[in-house]
Amino acid sequence: MCAQILTFKGGVHPHYNKELTNRLPIERMPVPDEVVIPLSQHTGAPCEPIVKAGDEVKLGQKIGEAKGFVSVPVHSSVSGKVKAVEPRMHPSGRFVNSVVIENDHLDTLDESVKPKGDLEDLSADDIKNIIKEAGIAGMGGAAFPTHVKLSPPPDKSVDTVIINGAECEPYLTCDHRLMVEHPEMIVFGLRAILKALGVKRGYIAIEINKPDAIEAMEKAASGIDGVEVVRLATKYPQGGEKQLIKAVTGREVPSGGLPADVGVVVDNVGTSHAIARAIKEGMPLVERIVTVTGQAVKNPKNLLVRIGTMLKDLVEYCGGFNGEPGKLITGGPMMGITQFTLELPVIKGTSGILILPEELTKPEKIRPCTRCAKCVDVCPMNLMPLFISAYALNNDFNTAEKYHALDCIECGSCSYICPCNRPLVESIRLAKREILAKRRKQA
Ligand code: SF4
Ligand code: SF4
Repeated sequence: MCAQILTFKGGVHPHYNKELTNRLPIERMPVPDEVVIPLSQHTGAPCEPIVKAGDEVKLGQKIGEAKGFVSVPVHSSVSGKVKAVEPRMHPSGRFVNSVVIENDHLDTLDESVKPKGDLEDLSADDIKNIIKEAGIAGMGGAAFPTHVKLSPPPDKSVDTVIINGAECEPYLTCDHRLMVEHPEMIVFGLRAILKALGVKRGYIAIEINKPDAIEAMEKAASGIDGVEVVRLATKYPQGGEKQLIKAVTGREVPSGGLPADVGVVVDNVGTSHAIARAIKEGMPLVERIVTVTGQAVKNPKNLLVRIGTMLKDLVEYCGGFNGEPGKLITGGPMMGITQFTLELPVIKGTSGILILPEELTKPEKIRPCTRCAKCVDVCPMNLMPLFISAYALNNDFNTAEKYHALDCIECGSCSYICPCNRPLVESIRLAKREILAKRRKQA
């Protein structure tokens, strides 16, 4: 056990508002009559459908085949009949080819769903293959295929795994509850990751605002060689991959680099839990925990939800709106995506639905920059947000690039702290898009 409190330079202390749900046990939501399962829920190539309208499918059956190495398959989250394979609105704001399934409410298990054997008997390749076949992609939000993370290039020597239990985003508590309620599964998943990578050292990193999670994880990890629970300061964005690595190992991921460049692999606690289920039960990633929260939700909850359940069903299950909703976000308030409809399915990366009342979302007047440098002080990537933003707003993306716009992790700390309400993260995001588009054109 490490009693030291670890952190990184910069960051902010927003109102966390986690008390709305952090003591509420995970509740299994009734399975809906219909699910809409997008064939792209991960970073990388979308899946090809392997079912068609009229087919009968079982719970856990593969319905979309991964295309390419950076891709994962998609599975049915219910048993029933395929109604359609067609483009449907996706939380990313695009229309994505999706499998619509009418639920027969029998939950008939697919024959492939069976335990994969003792961890001790599985090879590293067996574990990576189980993870890939279970459709596991990072559940912290980025949804990067996990088997790819666990297959670093031969020239990268990974010696450390960090399980990310920081959950620094305000309002969200799905990871917190998972650690309190299923700590042994998370530790099992970490052991599988260590074995897949051939690594001996694993940390479970948790912010100190979750003492019950720290206690539960320490108990579950006690006596396991090389595994340690570490305490992190409560500060946003403590759960950012680069900030987490710096806090836990002191190593700095280079500009444009990846965690494997400094010998580290980071996985979310939800991912670790999904790996444990894939090995122990043979269950692919067909459900996840979603925090439904915000002052404009009548009864906020942590729900265990089948992938493909519509957001509107979750909100209805939580009693509907409390007053007039002002803003709907999937994820947390700092890095989540603003949505304009609840007619969207839960996907593998949906950690939360946040609904804020109108009075908390009124736009503030934007004033000229006073060069107070507060945005520079809080930037966890040591950038100069005021300059990058100014050049971006002036369409001078070349100079924005020289100020390392691409290193921005879009954490929003600069926008949060700016007393003049400058649209910093929005303009920097625009600069990143333009710079990357230019690079693609030149390639
Ligand atoms: S925090 Fe806002 S006002 Fe202060 S320097 Fe940055 S952009 Fe300008
Ligand atoms: S510039 Fe990017 S990384 Fe820095 S605080 Fe702003 S959003 Fe975060």
